[in-house]
Amino acid sequence: MTNESTGGAGSHSGGPNRGPRPPRREYGGAGGGGGKDRFVRRRVCQFCVDKMVDIDYKDVARLRRFLSDRGKIEPRRKTGNCAKHQRALTVALKRARQIALLPYTAEHIRFMQR
Ligand SMILES: [Zn+2]
Repeated sequence: MTNESTGGAGSHSGGPNRGPRPPRREYGGAGGGGGKDRFVRRRVCQFCVDKMVDIDYKDVARLRRFLSDRGKIEPRRKTGNCAKHQRALTVALKRARQIALLPYTAEHIRFMQR
């Protein structure tokens, strides 16, 4: 039950706290201006714009944009699709995955775990 460490170097108290602290973020209030605009905020569904009724699962170039960098399907909040087309999109994406047009997961991760 001896709690003393025989190393000696690890003094628990009395360390000089160097370095200035980062300024605290203010909580509350409408002041959060740190939005990343990685994508143009469009409420319009891309498929509605193109007046597509069905989404072609072979249209990889189009479907790719709705996958995250890890191969996951992006949520509707990010893509801005309407409910109808998001549903059709997931079906199309899953079909495309089955015939290996699109990845189930990120390729580089698969590569690393080999
Ligand atoms: Zn739509």
